[in-house]
Amino acid sequence: MGPLAEAMRVAHERIVACSVCGNIDTRDPCTICADERRESATLWSSSRSAICGALERAQATRARYHVLGGALSPLDGIGPEDLNIAGLVARVAEGGVQEVVLAVNATVDGQTTAHYITELLSPYPVKVTRLAHGVPVGGELDYLDDGTLAAAMRQRTTF
Ligand SMILES: [Zn+2]
Repeated sequence: MGPLAEAMRVAHERIVACSVCGNIDTRDPCTICADERRESATLWSSSRSAICGALERAQATRARYHVLGGALSPLDGIGPEDLNIAGLVARVAEGGVQEVVLAVNATVDGQTTAHYITELLSPYPVKVTRLAHGVPVGGELDYLDDGTLAAAMRQRTTF
């Protein structure tokens, strides 16, 4: 137990939230924000740092991130002031961002957050997109739930 407790103590001391993107790292600005080779025109915005980690593992982008710190949830009393939404708008207002990808959960709270942010960003010349919903890689159509299949049918793309 000793080494585990020591490792957790060190992690607790060293891990900080990045003042630019809100992601957690052992440095501020975080490794991604400090990397000048990263593409700056696209911001992937997600509710939690763990989602940024998942997006990084997918290796489908070399862009930058913005962590909101949660999702809007009126029932739980979580409003815009509880999230890092103002930070996202400020980054867009600075200029240079051409696209904000809303990588939010396909839940009511996630979609509410996405609509709210889309409205806030509407005065700015930035494209707001979201992740596609649909068939998982390797998925079989007859085993999909109705909601996912319906989303995939609506968001079909040219082959
Ligand atoms: Zn950062």
